[in-house]
Amino acid sequence: MPSKSMMVPFVDLEPQHQRVRSDISAAFTRVLDGQQFILGNEGEKFESLFAQYLGCRFASGVGNGTDALMIALRALEIGPGDEVITTTHTFMATALAIMEVGATPVFVDCDPVTYQIDTSKIVSKVSPKTKAILPVHLYGAPADMDTIMKIAQEQKLLVVEDACQAHGALVGNKKVGTIGDIGVFSFYPGKNLGAYGDAGAVVTNNPDLYEKVQLLRNYGQRQKYYHDTLGRNSRLDELQAAFLSAKLPFLDEWNELRKKAQAEYKKLLKAFQFQETYLDTTSVYHLLVIQHEDRDGLISFLKKNDVTALIHYPVPLHLQKCFRSLGYKTGDFPIAEQLTKRIVSLPLYAGISAEQIAYVCKLIYSFKA
Ligand SMILES: *Cc1c(COP(=O)(O)O)cnc(C)c1O
Repeated sequence: MPSKSMMVPFVDLEPQHQRVRSDISAAFTRVLDGQQFILGNEGEKFESLFAQYLGCRFASGVGNGTDALMIALRALEIGPGDEVITTTHTFMATALAIMEVGATPVFVDCDPVTYQIDTSKIVSKVSPKTKAILPVHLYGAPADMDTIMKIAQEQKLLVVEDACQAHGALVGNKKVGTIGDIGVFSFYPGKNLGAYGDAGAVVTNNPDLYEKVQLLRNYGQRQKYYHDTLGRNSRLDELQAAFLSAKLPFLDEWNELRKKAQAEYKKLLKAFQFQETYLDTTSVYHLLVIQHEDRDGLISFLKKNDVTALIHYPVPLHLQKCFRSLGYKTGDFPIAEQLTKRIVSLPLYAGISAEQIAYVCKLIYSFKA
């Protein structure tokens, strides 16, 4: 048992805040004085900065990542009667968005070492109803996009990238979110780039899709009170946009700090299995996940010692109660079912100290299952 006890929260945004506090205050004052709170200069400025950061043509700010997914699917005209292939090992919102546009999520098991959608199992799920593949760049690491794009081309499918956990992650030198037809980001406060409330973005290189997204997020109107299509109200507000513009210049630096922190963990936890990445990809380490035989025991032990660890995610989507109508059952996706029993996410954020990491690792070794 380590002698010195310390608090290690799962995420601590204070180190970030020290870096941007004055910029955030200035942004707040600027928006307050400007009295434009929805769809103004700040939103446009962030959209152009974010598109530039990603190296793509268009970004549209929206209300949150879940809306971003729904709007992206609707822009691709995916709806009732259509199927979208996605992974069962992801956050709820990925499949929720597919359901909400009236389409059917078709789940695929995950890969045992990368935890990403198992691309060798996609083609067998393609049916005449399949419209798109929706890969998730899980835990900040890119999915196997080379294979996914090849399958999409052969099978004539669209690709929607859920990049909500992977701001800045790379496949070769391309940022994730810009590889498929359309990409989706969340700026939930705890994401690698986080707002101070809900926020999200849809990105694309396709001008037609961009036009549709712009309409769909804003009541389907091209001009005020003239509604071309049934849209929704999901805009990135000016305050969040101004905050995000203030934080974006630090994203790479913060991702670098995450990378250092996870390297430290890996050095100290040599006996443990970590997520593996695909060749020629760069993760931004949104989550640091290890496997443990007595996962639940470990989490309570850590908690008793002031360390917060979490599970991402405890129930694969095909076994969620709300998706019962889809007809999946236990045993359908054994890899994800096994994995969800063993995974634990350790504290990781930009600015976590080497001492904190050492403390967490010592605790892990001292825990006897
Ligand atoms: C966070 C997240 C979302 C949803 O984003 P919100 O902004 O919370 O709606 C979608 N997919 C994945 C994989 C996420 O991690």
